[in-house]
This record gives sequence, structure tokens and C-alpha cells, in this order.
Amino acid sequence: MKGLSLSLSARGVYYQVLVAYSLMSLLPILIVLYLSFYYILPTIPVEDRFTLTDPVVQAMVWTVILFPLFGLSMVVHLAKRIEKLANAIREMEKQVQGTVEKSKASPGSQDEIEELAKQFFEMRAAIGKQIEQLGDFQSRLDDSNIKLVEANKQLKELSIRDGLTGVFNRRYFDGRLEEEAQRASRYSRNFALEMIDIDHFKKLNDTYGHGCGDEVLKQVAEIMKQNTRETDIVCRYGGEEFCIVLIELDEKRAYHHAERVREAVSSFIFSNGQTPLSEKVTVSVGLAMFPQDGRDHRQLVESADSALYAAKSGGRNQVKCFSEMQSANRASS
Ligand code: GH3
Ligand code: MG
Ligand code: MG
Repeated sequence: MKGLSLSLSARGVYYQVLVAYSLMSLLPILIVLYLSFYYILPTIPVEDRFTLTDPVVQAMVWTVILFPLFGLSMVVHLAKRIEKLANAIREMEKQVQGTVEKSKASPGSQDEIEELAKQFFEMRAAIGKQIEQLGDFQSRLDDSNIKLVEANKQLKELSIRDGLTGVFNRRYFDGRLEEEAQRASRYSRNFALEMIDIDHFKKLNDTYGHGCGDEVLKQVAEIMKQNTRETDIVCRYGGEEFCIVLIELDEKRAYHHAERVREAVSSFIFSNGQTPLSEKVTVSVGLAMFPQDGRDHRQLVESADSALYAAKSGGRNQVKCFSEMQSANRASS
């Protein structure tokens, strides 16, 4: 028995099932034959014994032949299906692992069931590895996403800022001014627009150089930020010209604000980055109010620009209000 079981385990389950089936179907036949010949037949008189031509005996013989044959075909079919299943799992594992060699069972040492179990374990290990790799990949993807969101935020911030001074740029300002004008008209609110231009800046550039001019631009922008609320909008409108939108402020307060900025600039000791400048830097400011000096953002800019022009022609280093100009014009006409 030991030899038999060893030889069986060395073959495929396909053959194991066949042998087991044969043993199971032979054993009852042998028992029936043994009992018939030794115990039943001797008790029956010779003339009463069945002959092979007897229909009952024939039916028994056919049953003994056909039933095992039918069973055999079923067993063969079942064994083939197990074999197919093992092959399918092997193929699946090849796809998971991306390798053919690794998943091959050593021939002659395992039957289909052992191979099936082995394939399952290998496939489970491969899937586990892939899940681990997926986890790594997911966490790397999350990191990249966080960096991307941060980079986008920085990019957006850069796209609305002036590269030299760090205040908002003209494009952003135009959009915000339009928005503020719409919002203020919807809620019947005021706001002020200041246009600020550095006086004789060309001369400063010519005397101290363009680099020094850049430093002065940065320092003027810083003074404006220091003297303005977080909610207000400071922007470089172009060249040495700046704009400030003062949200929800009446003309009197806006004028005080403009004066404060003008005063802060004129009293500031500018430098070229290292050494202080002996020359004073001043600004002229034009002030216009929404909605009285301009019913939309374009008109408002024109009015502030006119007021700035008046401040320049009035001698520079001063604040001019558009409303004040209009009153003066009306009085003179
Ligand atoms: P005003 O008092 O009438 O405003 O005279 P101004 O000299 O300030 O005005 P003008 O328009 O004649 O000259 C402006 C100068 O600003 C000319 C230009 O070279 C200089 N400028 C514009 N942008 C920059 C910049 O980014 N850096 C430097 N350093 N200079 C600039
Ligand atoms: Mg100027
Ligand atoms: Mg100018």
C-alpha cells in the first residue's frame, strides 16, 4: 500500500482519481461474485441455476459493464476540468506577476491539487505585493497632488503680482476695479481711487542709475502697503505710477489717506540699496470718488488721472481731488 500511495502521489490527480474509482467499482463486484460462487450458487440446484442466456443475468451483466463505464467518463471529465482550472490560474498568475518562469510547477513532483494550491499561494503573494506597490504609488500621488496644489497657488499669486514691487499688477487691478464698481453700485456704496505718480523719476534714474530707480520703486510700494488696510488694493499701474483703491471710504478720509502717503514718501530717506540718497523723492496724487466722479471704472480712472495731472501742474508733491477741480472749473466759468 505504501508503494502504491507513493507512486500515486507522484502522478497527477487525474490518474489518482481514475485508480480510486476503479478500486471502488471493482471491490463491490468482487464481493458479489465471491458471495455468489461460494455461498449462493451451491444452495441452488444445478437445473435451477441462471444461465448467461437468461435475460435477468444479461441485464445484470450489462449493468455491471455500463454503470462503471458511465462513471468512468464522468470522472475523466471532472479530472480534465480540475486540470483546466489549474492552467487558468497559472495563466492568471503569469499576468499578475508578468513572468512565465516563476509560476511553473516542478514537473513530476506535484499533482494538480498541489499545483493548484501552490498557484493560489503564489498568486496571493503577487497580489499582496502589487497592493503594497499600489499603496506606495498612491501615497506618492498624494504628495505630488499636494505639491501641485501649492505650486498652482504660487503660480496664481505670481500671475497677479508685479515682479519688481510685489504689489498687484495692472491686469489684476483692472479686473478688481471693475468688480468693485459693480459691487458698490449694487449696494449703493462709495469707494475712492488714488493715482500716485513719482515726481521727476526720470531725473532720479538719470542721476543714480536704473538700478537705484528700481530700489526707489520698491521702497515707495512698501510705504503704500504700510499705510493701507489689508482690504484695500495697492497696484503698480505702470512705470512709476501706482493706484490704490480704498474700499468704503468717504472723500474726506480718502483725502487724509492720500495726504498720509504723500507725507510718508516725502519724509522717507530713500537709498539705492546700500547708501541713502541725498535727493528727496516725492509723489503727486490724483483722487476720484465712486460714484460721484465716475459712474463706472473707466470714467473713474479718467477722473483720477485728470486730478493727478492737476496735481502735477499745481507744482507736484501734492494731492488733488477731482471734485475740487470741478468746483474750481465751475467757479471760473
Ligand atoms: P513727472 O514728475 O512728470 O512724472 O516726471 P517723470 O520723470 O517722473 O515722468 P516721465 O514719464 O518723464 O518718466 C518716467 C520714467 O520712469 C521714465 C522711465 O524710464 C522710468 N521707468 C519706468 N519704469 C521703470 C522701472 O521699472 N524702473 C526704473 N528704474 N525706471 C522706470
Ligand atoms: Mg513721474
Ligand atoms: Mg508717470
